[in-house]
Amino acid sequence: MTVRVRFAPSPTGDLHVGSARSALFNYLFARAKGGVYILRIEDTDEERNREEAVRGILGGFEWLGIRADEGPFYQSDRKALYRAKAEELLASGGAYRCVCTVEELDARRKVAQAEKRPYRYERTCRDRKVPDGVPFVLRARLPEDGEVVFEDRILGPIRTGNRELDDFVILRANGTAIYNFCVVVDDVEMGITHVIRGNDHVANTPKQIHLYRLLGKEPPVFAHIPMINGPDGKKLSKRHGAVGVLAWRDLGYLPEAMLSYLSRLGWSHGDQEEFTLAELERLFTLEAVNASAAVFDVKKLEWVNGRLIRRLPAADLAGRIAPMIAARGWDPAAPWLGKAVAALQERSVTLVQMVDGLAPFYAEAVVFDPKAKGKFLTPEALPVLAGLADAVAKVDPFEAGPVGAAAEAWLAAGGHELKKVGQSIRVALTGAAVSPPLWDTMAVLGRERTLARLRAAAAGA
Ligand code: GLU
Repeated sequence: MTVRVRFAPSPTGDLHVGSARSALFNYLFARAKGGVYILRIEDTDEERNREEAVRGILGGFEWLGIRADEGPFYQSDRKALYRAKAEELLASGGAYRCVCTVEELDARRKVAQAEKRPYRYERTCRDRKVPDGVPFVLRARLPEDGEVVFEDRILGPIRTGNRELDDFVILRANGTAIYNFCVVVDDVEMGITHVIRGNDHVANTPKQIHLYRLLGKEPPVFAHIPMINGPDGKKLSKRHGAVGVLAWRDLGYLPEAMLSYLSRLGWSHGDQEEFTLAELERLFTLEAVNASAAVFDVKKLEWVNGRLIRRLPAADLAGRIAPMIAARGWDPAAPWLGKAVAALQERSVTLVQMVDGLAPFYAEAVVFDPKAKGKFLTPEALPVLAGLADAVAKVDPFEAGPVGAAAEAWLAAGGHELKKVGQSIRVALTGAAVSPPLWDTMAVLGRERTLARLRAAAAGA
């Protein structure tokens, strides 16, 4: 049997990290099993913002590099199918017409509330011949006794007494199907073998299992994955920071870091912290998914991102940040960019930090951080800067190695400790007290700009 799984988002906005993680687990499970991963957009409820939200979801997957084998399918295109299936159930006796009015139901619900008991439909119309020409809904005919049991692959056995359920509506009076029915019809039609989704759907599962049975189908395997919480133990939300994956992209995170980190939210493989997608595709199992809630820890995501940035070839990074560079009005084709990226790699946790670090290289003139200038461009430091400019003026090629050798020889000869004068040199070159290593910085700036900046600072600019 070929494994077939799906991720089925309701388009409510950008792809949330929790949704991305559910999608990833489905995708990985399909890859690990040689199966098929399907994307289905559950957009029956409202048309509002549909296109924008769908674009956000698809854009999120494109960035992450998770491609569906089939789909996206849209539930809004499949309304006729749901209606036809509901009518089939009516014909087979799995569903019946209910003509109880909204007012009647409300009145009964109020009585239940007053008696402090949960309201369940009394099955008034279940065995009644209802009159024609009266608006009706279709309700599923559920067993009145017994229980529904399923073995959740992550949570273990889950039992629900049928008395806790009622003959719920599957088709509204206007002919549109309700959510649980659409999900089951689609999962049947799409041949879904494993439903892997957030554990906020556990409560829907017994109802869905009944619908499978009424349709004469075997339910799939269910696996409900744990929620993702913020560090305070509450469900991850905007209060905790960025929750959309594209927001993390905009903050300068790599899709590889995001994927690696998402995989660790509720899943583990020994104590390995970092994974490539190819590794995950091989290693993922549902058995290793944890039943308890995962915690979204930005520090760990930063750690993974920083490590990946350090490991990528500079040319690759330069290509990735090119659009961000262009967005700042700078030239992504600057000949020294590769060198600058290589120099910034060690200390950049995000791509945004890396692009920020390029500012002194793109600037026409040094923009001084006043605090750094006051602290380090002191009267004693200025002659050192002037002397250093002369010492490196003729170095050829003007690369970090030879520049550093000449500079260090000159500093040593004059009894200047690099530890003491280093920050003055840095501020003279970049305007700030933080930058890549000095000799790398000089090499990226090139001879002309290095000399000009050292001499301008020496002259008290
Ligand atoms: N559309 C549902 C959601 O976005 C998921 C349904 C399912 O996976 O069964 O929460």
